[in-house]
Amino acid sequence: MYIVQIASECAPVIKAGGLGDVVYGLSRELETRGHCVEIILPKYDCMRYDHIWGLHEAYCDLVVPWYGTDILCDVYCGWVHGRLCFFIEPKSWEMFFNRGCYYGCDDDPMRFAFFSKAAMEFLLRSNKRPDVIHCHDWQTGLIPVMLFEIYKYNGMEFQRVLYTIHNFKHQGIAGTDILEATGLNRPEYYYQYGRLRDNFNPFALNFMQGGITYANHVNTVSPYHAWEAQHTDQGFGLGHTLHTHQYKFSGILNGIDYEVWNPEEDRYIPHHYDIATFEDKALNKKVLRERLMLAHGDKPVVAFIGRLDDQKGVHLVHHAIYYTLSRGGQFVLLGSATEKGINDWFWHEKLHLNDNPDVHLEIGFNEELAHLIYAGSDMIVVPSNFEPCGLTQMIGLRYGTVPIVRGVGGLVNTVFDWDYDGYHEPEERNGFVFFQSDTVALESAMDRAFDIWEKEPALFNQIAQQGMQYDFSWNHPGQDYVALYDYIRHK
Ligand code: ADP
Repeated sequence: MYIVQIASECAPVIKAGGLGDVVYGLSRELETRGHCVEIILPKYDCMRYDHIWGLHEAYCDLVVPWYGTDILCDVYCGWVHGRLCFFIEPKSWEMFFNRGCYYGCDDDPMRFAFFSKAAMEFLLRSNKRPDVIHCHDWQTGLIPVMLFEIYKYNGMEFQRVLYTIHNFKHQGIAGTDILEATGLNRPEYYYQYGRLRDNFNPFALNFMQGGITYANHVNTVSPYHAWEAQHTDQGFGLGHTLHTHQYKFSGILNGIDYEVWNPEEDRYIPHHYDIATFEDKALNKKVLRERLMLAHGDKPVVAFIGRLDDQKGVHLVHHAIYYTLSRGGQFVLLGSATEKGINDWFWHEKLHLNDNPDVHLEIGFNEELAHLIYAGSDMIVVPSNFEPCGLTQMIGLRYGTVPIVRGVGGLVNTVFDWDYDGYHEPEERNGFVFFQSDTVALESAMDRAFDIWEKEPALFNQIAQQGMQYDFSWNHPGQDYVALYDYIRHK
């Protein structure tokens, strides 16, 4: 099969979170299975150019219709750790992707509507006719709309599209100008609930709603989140739309890239280990402490890695720091915040705790340090408010770092509580789960983990090793995606 991924991220060249990991990891898995995969991305000024091999101009002066006139783009081509990627660079005064950031601009809907339009024009003009176009999140929600309303009539009638939603919270909200810009036009046609009109703001168009409505199939990134999105407030207003399209909506659990996340050969950790040599994990703990200037001693290290965002349950992350200290543990946090209030809050905490030998708060994005933290910690806490899939608990499991998680979304599909899980045998259980989003619930789960760590270290190691046995590679999700591509091609 010939598959084109269209996305706003691809790790490690463009990575703000899990989306980048998924686009890269899935593409690699599909190629391993013999499929042809190409990835179309924006050419941001701030991406990691050092991860692109052989970057060169592939298509010069691509004409992209925009607001009834044209914007010319150059399309570059290069390999990101073996994956063939095309990077679109518009030559226009808006400087859509030369902003020093991936997201967070006031005109983000316009920027990514342009990217979507340019990606479709690139496919059309370069005669690329993939079997499946796989697009991701709100940034590319207009791709299915444009495919079936415009490009289908211009020679792309056989293309099929899968739309994957990684986060329902960000949906891409815009006004009528987006229709004029992209050439969709006809506001009276698109301002209908069954098309692009937002379910709750009658004056707004919703990219994600368009993606759901028009795609041949829609999925989110875990089975449990697929249920939540339809039946709870976690669909962020799209529950009704998902319900309408329930026969083409499903959940496929993400994988993690076992070439990148593998304690047996991770190039960022000094001491490699596996289940048989699990005791060597402690050597990484020692290095982690030295690197972060934490005290040595008989204490568990609890980690948090992730965006410092309301989604991740920042108030509970904050509480976990102090609760860990009160229980005699050590805490390591690696996170970055885009929201000023949260950023200031954690910087304040960092300064406040600066001299404490049992805490290190690293505010920023640091891939290399993340690997050492996964390898050197005993527990990883994931107290999310919502979590479509969550990669950090899966990476934690792979590295024998026991997850303490809130039972939402993909966390439910991956972490099975040591004491209370009713569906898994004791030898299949791998972590600690709590449900309410409050400090009492978090503390009770942390207490259970700490008690075992302190009083039954052999049992704690057993739980960690049980986690390491799980296969969260792209092997199974890869099969599921191939089956889905095949299904939409032939239905
Ligand atoms: P989300 O996609 O919601 O941000 P996920 O758990 O799905 O969260 O994926 C997070 C990914 O980003 C993981 O690979 C994690 O290791 C990485 N990550 C998050 N924050 C940081 C950070 N500050 N530094 C390094 N890696 C990070």
